[in-house]
Amino acid sequence: MRQSQLFTRTRREAPSDETAKNAQLLIRAGFVHKEMAGVYSYLPLGFRTLQNIVQIIREEMNAVGAQEMVMTALQDKELWSRTDRWDDAKVDNWFKTEFKSGGETGLAITHEEPLTRIMSEHISSYRDLPRYAYQFQNKFRNELRAKSGVMRGKEFLMKDMYSFSKNDEEHAAFYAQAREAYLKVFARLGLGDRTYVTFASGGIFSPFSEEFQTLTEAGEDVIYVHEGKKLAVNKEVYTDEALATLGLSKEELVEKKAVEVGNIFNLGTRFSEPLNLSYTDETGTKKPVVMGSYGIGPTRLLGTIVEVLSDEKGMVWPEAVAPFRFHILNLLPNDAASVAFADALYAELGSDAALYDDRDARAGEKFADSDLIGIPWRINVGKETAVSGMVELVNRATGEMKKVTRDEVLAL
Ligand code: ATP
Ligand code: MG
Repeated sequence: MRQSQLFTRTRREAPSDETAKNAQLLIRAGFVHKEMAGVYSYLPLGFRTLQNIVQIIREEMNAVGAQEMVMTALQDKELWSRTDRWDDAKVDNWFKTEFKSGGETGLAITHEEPLTRIMSEHISSYRDLPRYAYQFQNKFRNELRAKSGVMRGKEFLMKDMYSFSKNDEEHAAFYAQAREAYLKVFARLGLGDRTYVTFASGGIFSPFSEEFQTLTEAGEDVIYVHEGKKLAVNKEVYTDEALATLGLSKEELVEKKAVEVGNIFNLGTRFSEPLNLSYTDETGTKKPVVMGSYGIGPTRLLGTIVEVLSDEKGMVWPEAVAPFRFHILNLLPNDAASVAFADALYAELGSDAALYDDRDARAGEKFADSDLIGIPWRINVGKETAVSGMVELVNRATGEMKKVTRDEVLAL
């Protein structure tokens, strides 16, 4: 993409009310626009980055046999009343509104209820199980805290997957597969080293649910990490009793701040019973379906990557999620030979792989913008290029610079 055509511009300052580093950098680089506290639009560079995160998650969910779909944002009050999750006294973060024709609706906080009802029309026999479905869909939550930028939105993207199994054993097998798939996702996103399976509250059969917590000072959670076992315990369940159950002792655990980037839950029959999702087994007996839910926050992950990988000059995207792999800077935009060289290189790399700074701007400005945007490989086309055919190739993460030929760039 030609930077001269990109409608977003970088800016020196973020809005003064934005305190989170992730949002400050994303706004300054033109990746997101802040509509209101906790509400962000994704502009072309931010959208491309988010889509890369989404695609990695999609591949890993497909690999465990889940089917992608998308459900509605508007929710049916009557359905949620049946599971006792409509009342504001029970769930305190709904955005609710009224239909002109009468009656209330709410914006989806999660999707167990609607998917359970959908499945009740498609599952009736043991032959219909197990089934796994997921979606990428905006959730709406009237969150009180809004100090974490895109890491805690009032409107945010969630990948939510749900499993439907015949019994606890079948459920447990998929749950274990989902845990592995999640670890693959975080590794591919460059967060594997600092993301810990973390025991937390909310378990139904086992006393715990499992969260995936990424270490960062910007996180709102406190966890106790066991480095050797690569697992952690959330502060909310950090009791002598819980530690004994897990076979851990306080001396081996280190307190850290972290953000929950995903979680996996055993739901048992919490939703299938009130919503009548059942099946007939091999002997003709009617049984409730055993469910699980598995969430990941792609927009929270985007913010987390900025928090943990940025430096004083700007963002540093891993190749797997960067909006582009290459950032071509033509440092002599008024020199015909330079323009010809840079144009040709851009044509060969392609508009999907390269952002091409073809603007009529000073080199210093181009360098500062490039550092801020954080694309992995920068290619400087300068004075020497027309003479020797060599460009400077700069690695954003390490700062390492090499003089290379065009062919060496193309071979990267
Ligand atoms: P938290 O405790 O941080 O509020 P949660 O327990 O409410 O999270 P879930 O309801 O299980 O989270 O949502 C699944 C995933 O969605 C979370 O693991 C997180 O990655 C993401 N998520 C949850 N709330 C938000 C939010 N307000 N903004 C962005 N992402 C979110
Ligand atoms: Mg929450």
